[in-house]
Amino acid sequence: MVVPHALVVPYPAQGHVDPLMELSHRLAKLGILVTFVHTEFSHAHVMAALPENCFGEYNGGIRLVTIPDGAANDEERRDRSRFFVVIKRSMPSFLEELIVKINEREENKITYVIVDGFIGFLLNVAEKLKIPRAAFFPASTWQLAILLNIGKLLDSGFINHNGSVQNYDKAADILEDVHPIRPKHPCWVNYKDVKWQVICFKYLCNNFEAVKHVDHILCNSFSELELPVFRHLNGAVPIGPLLSANRSTLPQPSSFWAEDLSCIDWLDQQPNCSVIYVSFGSMTVLRQQQISELALGLELTGRPFLWVCRPDLMEFSPAIYPDGFLDRVSKQGRVVNWTPQKEVLSHPSVACFLTHCGWNSALEGLSNGVPMLCWPYFFDQFQNQTYIVELWKVGLALAEDSLGIVRKEEIKEKIEDLIKNDGIRKRVTELKDKVRKAVMDGSGVSTRNLECFASTMKGAKARFTTNNTEKLQ
Ligand code: UDP
Repeated sequence: MVVPHALVVPYPAQGHVDPLMELSHRLAKLGILVTFVHTEFSHAHVMAALPENCFGEYNGGIRLVTIPDGAANDEERRDRSRFFVVIKRSMPSFLEELIVKINEREENKITYVIVDGFIGFLLNVAEKLKIPRAAFFPASTWQLAILLNIGKLLDSGFINHNGSVQNYDKAADILEDVHPIRPKHPCWVNYKDVKWQVICFKYLCNNFEAVKHVDHILCNSFSELELPVFRHLNGAVPIGPLLSANRSTLPQPSSFWAEDLSCIDWLDQQPNCSVIYVSFGSMTVLRQQQISELALGLELTGRPFLWVCRPDLMEFSPAIYPDGFLDRVSKQGRVVNWTPQKEVLSHPSVACFLTHCGWNSALEGLSNGVPMLCWPYFFDQFQNQTYIVELWKVGLALAEDSLGIVRKEEIKEKIEDLIKNDGIRKRVTELKDKVRKAVMDGSGVSTRNLECFASTMKGAKARFTTNNTEKLQ
């Protein structure tokens, strides 16, 4: 008998590796063998971040393998204008070589390939080798709708052939019943450098052409959250949110920084619903002046805070805190390099989440019923802010001053407004409940879709649902 064996390939960044690792665990639990492909660079980082000796070749039935990303070891991978070109040129042949090797030498051949949409060009490798394939989309399905409808955005004159928005005062109303797409919503427009914008746009156009041709695009979302969007996208299957909350978790080979577990002990000592949790995800970069202003703003609140200040939160040098800041706040707050964020957000001491609005962070905030204060930095984060603040109404937005700085007074004021806002707390609690239902064992729509997908990998016919009554295909 052929054992279903999935090869899972994430784009090499934190917010992509995390949900695909979770998907791998779910598939393994459903009887699928999983081989998870890290780039050598990612692999070195996630292994260095793990506590010693806690991980072997197999982890909960998942095998890790690596391929090169094509960039030199010491090359700066944050410069995506170059990185996109390099991975697109190099990764297909490395992936093909890997699959051919596994299928020639091993008893359990790769029977299915799941590729992150942001490296959608790798789907062509599976097609060439005649292996069934699916895409996974780690951001919102609304962002996916943009990427699959670039043609309509061009035809409507919203963007030009370089992806540049033509009129910053106009939204694109291209999908019936879906909130109009605003100038800051397409992910590629939010690179500060226009050169990056164009490279990113061309890269994404090419990628999502490949994604359009797969039967299934697995979405890290749930139907009730984005129903109008799902109605437009044949083949988009809601299977999320893919959070590890329902699984006893060992440290995973998916975190690029070592988690500071002592922050949980610190949270244990704080009063219920008192702590401001501050995290900008894995890629945000802030200016020194902004870091100082944020530090002073948190101090000014007089409330306990837990602030994730990644070692590379500033681009070229470690952040410098205002004079005496760390001493003055030693009893009030904690500043750490990296946290076990899902655990932090589920802690009863956490009152609100100051977030950069990465999709994973937004889902984690929702799933734990935590009101959010939005500080988007780039990519899809402005669209996610629209969801959080205007459509779901579970958070507030921070405003920059005329110099592009979010001032300490603004930080204090908005945190107070957010904490006192009962409407927001009520709505986020309702959404938390909807998340719980979507991923419930047995009856959750996302859970059932994932089970159905696993059955298709075993040869069954697909029958996915967007909600309890409506069949997608
Ligand atoms: N994260 C974490 N610890 C931290 C900060 C972030 O584990 O201290 C995780 C967070 O839980 C989320 C991921 O990093 O799953 C970041 O993904 P997201 O989509 O929010 O943002 P990105 O890093 O892609 O900008």
